[in-house]
Amino acid sequence: MKEVEELDALNLCGRRTKMIVEEMEKVCQGLFEKELESYFEGKANMDRIKLLGERRLLGIGIPRDYGGIGGNNLDTALAFVSLGSNLGMSAVSFMNVQNGLVAKTILRWGTEEQKKRFLPDLASGKKIGSFCLTEPEAGSDPSSLRTTFDSPATHFANNFISGTKYLITNGNMADVFIDFAYPKGPKRKKEDLSVFIVERSGNESQILTESLHHKIGLHASDTALIEFNDAFVPKENILRLGRGNYVYDHSFLSGRLGIAAGCVGVILDCLNSAMERSKYRVQHGKPIAKHQLVQAHISAIAEDFEKARLPTYNAAIIKDIYDLHQESSELRKKTDYKISIAKRIAANAAFDAADRAVQVGGGFGYSTLYSPARHFKDVRVARIYEGSDEMMTLKAAYYLLGEGFEAFK
Ligand SMILES: Cc1cc2nc3c(=O)[nH]c(=O)nc-3n(C[C@H](O)[C@H](O)[C@H](O)COP(=O)(O)OP(=O)(O)OC[C@H]3O[C@@H](n4cnc5c(N)ncnc54)[C@H](O)[C@@H]3O)c2cc1C
Repeated sequence: MKEVEELDALNLCGRRTKMIVEEMEKVCQGLFEKELESYFEGKANMDRIKLLGERRLLGIGIPRDYGGIGGNNLDTALAFVSLGSNLGMSAVSFMNVQNGLVAKTILRWGTEEQKKRFLPDLASGKKIGSFCLTEPEAGSDPSSLRTTFDSPATHFANNFISGTKYLITNGNMADVFIDFAYPKGPKRKKEDLSVFIVERSGNESQILTESLHHKIGLHASDTALIEFNDAFVPKENILRLGRGNYVYDHSFLSGRLGIAAGCVGVILDCLNSAMERSKYRVQHGKPIAKHQLVQAHISAIAEDFEKARLPTYNAAIIKDIYDLHQESSELRKKTDYKISIAKRIAANAAFDAADRAVQVGGGFGYSTLYSPARHFKDVRVARIYEGSDEMMTLKAAYYLLGEGFEAFK
């Protein structure tokens, strides 16, 4: 029995949202044991894909016509709160890439044929997706990517892609890769960045992946180094020729929102775990929950929760409005700003909450058998991936200060 649940927000939502979140809670409870086992074995939990896929929870934000549930951004955010709270950031990372970065990218930029071909399989978990932007030499600054495609930039040509992608979530198990590349040649222009849907099938020898195990945490998340060596991409799989930055900017709106919401879930679990432990553990003749300095930690975690969830849900609602008016560049910039701020706040609040919950746990708190200790290791990444704290700060300031003040050009 949890001491605190995310009921305030849920009670304001409609029936569909409640059904999605209840479904997610149920699936997570069924997955918990296996998730823990996978975490300690250091491998991705494949049951997660099966169960979330069977319930179509991998397609929350995907319309029913393409095999999803047809939920909005707030539904998705609240489902991610449940996922983060019950299973932690490995599960959040997996689903966020599958749903937020891959399926929603195809939904936004794909042709009708691409949507029909890929989205139902991504929503059901029949196919796994990965989002391949980062490279060894290009992280916060994607304009320095080195991956290339070598056919002329026309929608009527097949292509071959070569390059190395680094730190790619789901990369070892992916069937579908959203891949960013520049045309081959000496005169590379920023606006030529293009995006392709690369399929593993038929490219088994051209796509080599290697697991990256030496991570601080996220042990049940698959992270890969990927070599594309002349991987074949038929012309039907071109997602966008040129202005690939529009694609990743748009993908990160969903991606960052998912991470922020996952972090809210992490805080909720830290709060529940710290409360439970502090009521049970007796020192100096009374439960440690009766010591005022322990109460200060509990109260601070609750503050973290409030600090993180309000901007996250607010950003989700603003993104719901933006999704209806995607032609509005003003609304896009505002949504980007709200999401950047929410992600930064939630990621830092979650790291603080995990740290405090570990402290409340004392020596036991330092054990990864206690979920806040796992969160402490896992959630640190939220301050780095899908845009670091620093990049979120700069983006927010750029929105406020306006044209001419972009510090990260
Ligand atoms: C576990 C994990 C999973 C990941 N999954 C994926 C994935 O699925 N797909 C994908 O494409 N990528 C993925 N990434 C990569 C992630 O998005 C990048 O690590 C992140 O964008 C930062 O890039 P970088 O690591 O190259 O750091 P760098 O860009 O080298 O930055 C290093 C430091 O410098 C700071 N910095 C950089 N530029 C500036 C500036 N202009 N002003 C101020 N500070 C600056 C950064 O904020 C950071 O603190 C993943 C990373 C991890 C750790």
